Amino acid sequence: MRTKILKDLLTLSHELGREDRGLAMLGEGNTSARFGGDTFLVKASGTCLGTLKKADVVECRSAKVLPLLEKEGLSDQEIDNALLAARVDAKAKKPSVETVFHAYLLSLPGINFVGHTHATTVNQILCSPRARDLAEHRIAPDEIVCCGVASVFVPYTDPGVKLAQAIRRQTEAFIKKHQRQPRVVLMQNHGIIALGATWQAVLSAMLMAEKVAKIFVGASALGGPVFFSDESIRRIAGRTDELYRQRALNL
Ligand SMILES: [Zn+2]
Repeated sequence: MRTKILKDLLTLSHELGREDRGLAMLGEGNTSARFGGDTFLVKASGTCLGTLKKADVVECRSAKVLPLLEKEGLSDQEIDNALLAARVDAKAKKPSVETVFHAYLLSLPGINFVGHTHATTVNQILCSPRARDLAEHRIAPDEIVCCGVASVFVPYTDPGVKLAQAIRRQTEAFIKKHQRQPRVVLMQNHGIIALGATWQAVLSAMLMAEKVAKIFVGASALGGPVFFSDESIRRIAGRTDELYRQRALNL
């Protein structure tokens, strides 16, 4: 089981790191997976998604990372020390600076894989005055199937513990409002996080979000996009044929 989780995480990382997809280059982006009772796997700092290998993945203890969400005013050094102390193997590489938000999102029920990238077209919108529209509205049926009825929107926040705290705040508000888990988190002037039960669900949400962002940008040049009504979104999200498609696609 653990071998399969590691293999799936590497596959997801390689798919997200493919240069032709424009999601992440060089050291951009990171991935993680729930790895059993109290630990998870996360990409090491400074490694590359497209070529990620076993030695670039760090196993961390959730119980050592999650308490950072409650702390205020930690120095960069204190955060570094806490992340290094969270490793199961003291010889493993340093976990990604974004390990804290991975630990939080993997603690949500049913979430086994998380992927984060700086997807080019998604970021065209997230770096524009219309960033919030991309999160709060829907424009295509398959967007609802793969990315959910809406996305969590996080105003720009300094990466690291502060960002993880903002993600938790906005995700909790989203769950309260929509009564369901988010599939996508959009971070202003930064990038996108996709989360799901399987690595395929994470990849599908990421690729669909990037495709929808292209449609959004194109439709904006023509005076759009025209957004779905809440009623249409509810209807598509609840359709049995769409639910069947979700299951068939392992989403
Ligand atoms: Zn990032």
